[in-house]
Amino acid sequence: MKQPQQIRINVVGAGVIGLTTALVLQIKGYDVTILAKHFPGDKSPEYTSPYAGARWRTAAPDNDARLQRYDADTFKLLWELAKCKAAEAGIMVVPAFDYFEKPTPSQLDPWWKDVVPGFRQLTDSKELPKDAQGGYSYTTVLINPDRYLKWLQSQFVRLGGKMRRAILQDLQDAMEDPLVDAVVNCTGVQSSWLANDKNIVPTRGQNVVVRAGHVRRTISMKSADAYTYVIPRSDGTVLLGTTKEEFSTDTKVDKRIAHDIMKRAVKYCPDLTHGKGVDALRVKGHVVGIRPGRIGGPRVENEFKVSRVGKRVLVTHNYGHDGSGYQSSWGSAKHAAHLIHEGIAALENESSKIHSLFAARL
Ligand SMILES: Cc1cc2nc3c(=O)[nH]c(=O)nc-3n(C[C@H](O)[C@H](O)[C@H](O)COP(=O)(O)OP(=O)(O)OC[C@H]3O[C@@H](n4cnc5c(N)ncnc54)[C@H](O)[C@@H]3O)c2cc1C
Repeated sequence: MKQPQQIRINVVGAGVIGLTTALVLQIKGYDVTILAKHFPGDKSPEYTSPYAGARWRTAAPDNDARLQRYDADTFKLLWELAKCKAAEAGIMVVPAFDYFEKPTPSQLDPWWKDVVPGFRQLTDSKELPKDAQGGYSYTTVLINPDRYLKWLQSQFVRLGGKMRRAILQDLQDAMEDPLVDAVVNCTGVQSSWLANDKNIVPTRGQNVVVRAGHVRRTISMKSADAYTYVIPRSDGTVLLGTTKEEFSTDTKVDKRIAHDIMKRAVKYCPDLTHGKGVDALRVKGHVVGIRPGRIGGPRVENEFKVSRVGKRVLVTHNYGHDGSGYQSSWGSAKHAAHLIHEGIAALENESSKIHSLFAARL
């Protein structure tokens, strides 16, 4: 049986999913290299992670135990990280307020109410916007993507992880080194063609960045026709959002949408401008990102492929996290690492059977 340090793994992708998965594998002692077209610090429509709101507010449905586990595991880890590495890793702990125009019973009694500290219903109408019939408050973690992605990368490198810029035309390109045992596919939206996945639903999200360093709470409002949020960052900026436009990959900023987002944000969080209205917002910029939506949820599973040099290689997929890549990252990486362990064991079992077969005849 090979030791982890003798097992060579190429992780394709350096978004939040690729970096977290590579770090988990490096911590487990494997010999890991990240291959990616984009790394932290780069900006591209093909690189979703820098554009995220990046707050923990799970979207895992009531009946999806797998996604619930990803998000709950991730919350616990980010919470611990915030206690010791908040500034370095770009994590902030803040009070959160979620409002609902017409809440369903399950919205008001969410599965995750014991995962986060301080969960309480908002029963006093003074705590709710006029058009919200319900809501709750809790404490959550917010991530500054630029800082956090660089922090993940630095942790990976510190543990001996390697990185190489590469543009893959095919996942086979990640198996060219005959010593590679496994490839982990963390290519987000690009898995639509790299993994030939017809279930990927690119989902456009437009946000506005404003300066409002005094805002130290995150809010969201769910109504029939819009989802509004306000997400402060440690650098004094605040992200206002959002849109969810399925099958749209248009990265141009739509000014009409931007104005609508700003109006909604100021309505539910008037202290953004100290009550002076939308025109008093100090706009820093606009961002558009494409979420890796996927019918059926994220794909975290094993596949075995034969490389161009005839070697059987494990391919573990970990992509399609839609609007939850940050809040699912550690749980999803832990699941992927477990699958990699199983897949490698299966490959070793196969090769030891072949060796015994030869040994018996030679
Ligand atoms: C507006 C918006 C708001 C969001 N808000 C939140 C939030 O509040 N909370 C949350 O948890 N999530 C949020 N998300 C979702 C989150 O950003 C994504 O789920 C996450 O970034 C996906 O990460 P990823 O690593 O899978 O993909 P990506 O970040 O896109 O990384 C893909 C990687 O694969 C590489 N790659 C792709 N193709 C190739 C190739 N051919 N060759 C080599 N490398 C390749 C890229 O270069 C890149 O390194 C939000 C997203 C958006 C757009």
